[in-house]
This record gives sequence, structure tokens and C-alpha cells, in this order.
Amino acid sequence: MVFHSITSVSDKIYFIHIGTKEDIYFTWKSKNSPKAFIFDYSIAANAPQSEIYYHLNKGDIKIVYLKRDKLVFVIAGDISVQFQVFEALLEFHAVKFVEIYGDMLQDIFDVGTPDFFKAFHDVINEAIIEIPNQNGKIVEARCRSCQRVVYPYIRKSLIEESEDFPVPIVYMHEGHALLLYIDRDFKVRGAEIVSITG
Ligand SMILES: [Zn+2]
Repeated sequence: MVFHSITSVSDKIYFIHIGTKEDIYFTWKSKNSPKAFIFDYSIAANAPQSEIYYHLNKGDIKIVYLKRDKLVFVIAGDISVQFQVFEALLEFHAVKFVEIYGDMLQDIFDVGTPDFFKAFHDVINEAIIEIPNQNGKIVEARCRSCQRVVYPYIRKSLIEESEDFPVPIVYMHEGHALLLYIDRDFKVRGAEIVSITG
């Protein structure tokens, strides 16, 4: 089966923060990031649970954050980028950061200068180009509500690490929601209109 590839989002990713509950260790920022926008890091630092991708909308900006062990990962970008793309990127960076710096992070006193994590800028610059395509797929479904063909992006791990199939996912668009069921081959097995609250 043929999958669509995602159009580049690299110029739509605005910033990435990596830190702990107390401090931001590292910030990567795009030149496209809106100058006036400041994210309140404590929102992510105080996330109630680990291993949950939290989603936020702030004006034209989407933010996704994740707590894992003692670390906090935040990514933000343009509202047009699907949440699953941010999740794929955040997941990649969380794994990569621990892979590169994990041993050193045991000793917090080594982590003093802003230059310490400098090399991670290159990791991010490469990842925002490659990871969305590498670690996710675009599926295709018809929405009976708006009569359009929609193209939700699904991060691969969501399907590959699932224990039950098909995997349900809600695709929000144009003010309504489509509940999709994705099988292990990334095929859409069902699509229902669902109501939204919250
Ligand atoms: Zn629709």
C-alpha cells in the first residue's frame, strides 16, 4: 500500500526545551519562532504524570510536553502541524538525549554551562527534517461529516507498540472530530464522527 509522505514541517517547529522540574538544561530555538511568545515552562515541569504526551494550544502555537524519569521535554510549533508529529519528534529527542547525556546526568554538578548540550542543536536540526517521515505515516480516511478526504499523521510507535488492534485515534479538524481505527498495517479500518467535550 502506498503512503503519502508528510510535507516538511522543519520551518514550523519553533522551540524545544529539555530540563528537569527545576531547571531548563537546554533550549533550541528556530529563527521562525514568534518573538513575543514565551512558554511558561513550569506548566510542563509540573505535569502530573510521566509518560503522557500533554497537548496545549496557545493562539497559533501548539505545544506538546512529556515527563520521563527526572527529565521534562517540551516542543512547540505552528498550529498547522499535527500533534502526532510533535509527539514523534519529542519521542525521538527524549530517547536521543538520554542516549547521549544519560550517564552524565547522574551527576547534576557536571551540568553547569549552557554549552554543555551544544551538540544537541545538530541532533535537532537533523531530526526536524528526517524524523516526521521516518517515524510516522500519513493515513487516509473519508470524513462523513465534512465529506472530505483527510490525511491524519500517525507516529509509528503508537501502532507498533500497541497491544490491541485496531488502535483508536481521534483526528480533530475544522471544529469536529473523527474517530479512526488503525490496524497494524496502518490501514484505516473504521471512521466514526464523535462528539467532543472537555
Ligand atoms: Zn470532517
